[in-house]
Amino acid sequence: MNRHQPQTNLNREALNHPRVGPVLNVMSVDLECWEQLVYRRLTGRTIQCSENVIEATNRLLEIFEAKGIKATFFVLGNIAEAFPELVKSIHGLGHEIATHGYSHTVLDRMAPPQFREEIRKSVSLLESITREKVIGFRAPEFSLSQSMSWAIESLAAEGIRYDSSILPTGNAYPPASERTIPKLSAGKSIIEIPPSTVSFLTHRILTGGSYFRLMPYPLMRRLLRTINNKGFPFVFYCHPYEFSPSALRVPDNGGSGMKVFKTECKYNLLLRRVPRKFTALLTEFKFASFKEVLAHELSV
Ligand SMILES: [Zn+2]
Repeated sequence: MNRHQPQTNLNREALNHPRVGPVLNVMSVDLECWEQLVYRRLTGRTIQCSENVIEATNRLLEIFEAKGIKATFFVLGNIAEAFPELVKSIHGLGHEIATHGYSHTVLDRMAPPQFREEIRKSVSLLESITREKVIGFRAPEFSLSQSMSWAIESLAAEGIRYDSSILPTGNAYPPASERTIPKLSAGKSIIEIPPSTVSFLTHRILTGGSYFRLMPYPLMRRLLRTINNKGFPFVFYCHPYEFSPSALRVPDNGGSGMKVFKTECKYNLLLRRVPRKFTALLTEFKFASFKEVLAHELSV
């Protein structure tokens, strides 16, 4: 079988009846500029996107190419505005382009009209580059919650068909291996495919991001296998900065020396090991984009 052939094991029916054989998991990338986001966090001020995001993204794209894997890129609108050619080349390689909003403002700090405008602007920017409809959304810092019906209504009104933002934490959300996919009701329905979690000791950890960077690979692999061994898929997420070819540096004038030092230490810890671990992950598990995995469910 062609490994890129769309498979549909992440629909509700399949989750109720676990798949036998290799499970197709979802690979997602939140495409944003690390320098811009940490600078804003440290100083409260905004700077332009750094070109470092291009180099780091290209490094990630090379790994996907080498392993023949297509992912979903949740692209921040201001990245699309600054580097449209980057978005065009990601799309040209066959990856799905979805939206991560425009300015990376968390949802509870936005009034409903501002959020609606963010989605409209970012979707319009992305569609003007790819000439293809944007149907997926991930909120900055997973800041969407099921009670934010105003946001879900805006997403549906702007043509979003699926969301991957609602953190499966707390007792309301069972681990990935036991969950079913809820449909968020907003007139038109949106499919919610939350980021996955696995239980480790007394903690619930996310499958990707800094958890993947900091955790020894054999342990992460074992936890991920517990999901696939039950016949269920997981959603993995990463960021381009995790593939930065050089150490991450806060831009000049990024606040007090000690805060800058702590930030750089935090994000550079075990950073250099990520590409090798990630390559191993792509070798041992099967992945595709949301759109590919959900083809049946979305009828796209
Ligand atoms: Zn983000």
